[in-house]
Amino acid sequence: MTSTEAEQLGLKVWGIDEINDVHVAVWPTNDLVRHDFATNECVCGPQVVPRPRPEGGMGWMYKHHSLDGRENRERD
Ligand SMILES: [Zn+2]
Repeated sequence: MTSTEAEQLGLKVWGIDEINDVHVAVWPTNDLVRHDFATNECVCGPQVVPRPRPEGGMGWMYKHHSLDGRENRERD
């Protein structure tokens, strides 16, 4: 399935990447802008969510927001 087909089916298309030991980024794939995963100063204003690490301790998930509004998709 291509991402376009997934979009047509109304599926959310997200990428996940472990930046380092304490930072996981979740971002919308094929978005209108390029997301800056390495910081929390991305243009989309990522939501930073505390996230327990499997090894113990806490890490952070940076949840990026799509500029095409796929979280809140509404039909005309
Ligand atoms: Zn972003």
